Amino acid sequence: MASAAAPTTFSLLSSSSSSSSSSSSSSSSSASRSALLRLPASGLRSSGLRRLGFAAADPFLAAHVASKLRSLRGKGSRGVVSMAKKSVGDLTGPALKGKKVFVRADLNVPLDDNQNITDDTRVRAAIPTIKHLIQNGAKVILSSHLGRPKGVTPKFSLAPLVPRLSELLGIQVIKADDCIGPEVEKLVASLPEGGVLLLENVRFYKEEEKNEPEFAKKLASLADLYVNDAFGTAHRAHASTEGVTKFLKPSVAGFLLQKELDYLVGAVSNPKRPFAAIVGGSKVSSKIGVIESLLEKCDILLLGGGMIFTFYKAQGLSVGSSLVEEDKLDLATSLLKKAKAKGVSLLLPTDLVIADKFAPDANSKIVPASAIPDGWMGLDIGPDSIKTFSDVLGTTKTVIWNGPMGVFEFDKFAKGTEAIAKKLAEISGVGVTTIIGGGDSVAAVEKVGVADVMSHISTGGGASLELLEGKELPGVVALDEATPVPV
Ligand code: AMP
Repeated sequence: MASAAAPTTFSLLSSSSSSSSSSSSSSSSSASRSALLRLPASGLRSSGLRRLGFAAADPFLAAHVASKLRSLRGKGSRGVVSMAKKSVGDLTGPALKGKKVFVRADLNVPLDDNQNITDDTRVRAAIPTIKHLIQNGAKVILSSHLGRPKGVTPKFSLAPLVPRLSELLGIQVIKADDCIGPEVEKLVASLPEGGVLLLENVRFYKEEEKNEPEFAKKLASLADLYVNDAFGTAHRAHASTEGVTKFLKPSVAGFLLQKELDYLVGAVSNPKRPFAAIVGGSKVSSKIGVIESLLEKCDILLLGGGMIFTFYKAQGLSVGSSLVEEDKLDLATSLLKKAKAKGVSLLLPTDLVIADKFAPDANSKIVPASAIPDGWMGLDIGPDSIKTFSDVLGTTKTVIWNGPMGVFEFDKFAKGTEAIAKKLAEISGVGVTTIIGGGDSVAAVEKVGVADVMSHISTGGGASLELLEGKELPGVVALDEATPVPV
């Protein structure tokens, strides 16, 4: 499988002797830039919702993709089968009209000192599910957490969400001052069909994170059925993400949650091949699960970021003062062996941008990976590596990316990460499925301004990491199974 995508399984020691120059840096990055400029207009997507992964005019994309994936049942798609959940798109008409629907969304937005929303991405992400429900005559009881309050904390109230939600939904959203109790029950009783009641921060109660059944029962008593659209908290078994499902039937996935599953489980389990995974970030220890899981599925594995120095050292190279996890050297060796045994082309960078200190204004130079002097540290991948990685990515049909290639927070060491982001944007434009698996990689594609063109940008850091590790998320497991689609 791997041979179709890349020339050979990578040998670090033989390749690391290749030299680099700053001229190759500029030529490779300008090649990426010009290729990006040649993107066909049809490959570029403009709507903000597209960035969240929804088709611009069709919020039912996720349900459509999900049903396609479900039709793969029995064809060896284990991951898809175990995560195929009933979707809110499966519910219409009488299943929703006049019904009280408890919707758990992730409205945990950043607020400034004046309680203004500084990034409304999560609010917009919640809209397709809520719109579907109100258009079908449901009464929406909307719940979320915000921040990490210890008890009732006014600065973590969901009140600042009301104007933006109302604007995006085109109706006046009503706000409750609590999330359970008689006052909330009264508001629910007077909610019209197609109305939305926003409950107060569910984490004002410590019972939420403890998943106390009595609290979950009180939340559930407000509604007839349950929709979980809070992907960012689906890896936590809390009262509003897991507990309520014990008392509400049906319990289904919202469009956002469904789409995350379709890509992070579906597209990764049944990828169009060649399938490449790019894993970066600071430490190998935090990505062991992801690397091991992806080694089972991918054809090509590209490694970058701080974790590569543990691999170099395990191979006997000098790494200067680069980040190394001494207790993970054996692990690095075993991952390299595992890749070889599985026929996965594992590529480590052949050259690096090194620095004389960990600072944005550090002195820097480009060296082969085998020639890091004492006292210097690698903070980015070098131009030859950018070119090799870009060439390899150009042969793929599916790519998943988790973790930056270098310390991209410092402009001087952001070139590798930015070049990968641009390359992924370029290949997205020619039909490659590109999945950005949460955390800093999302920040990187947003910084470069190419988030809109990726196939999928995950909205949940921890949750997407757990999914990529092959774990099942409690908030997803608790939902009803999808009805099998006859094939
Ligand atoms: P993670 O949260 O594990 O994905 O790691 C992301 C962090 O890794 C970012 O803050 C980067 O600055 C950091 N990082 C990337 N490359 C390096 C490197 N070569 N040395 C130290 N830190 C790095």
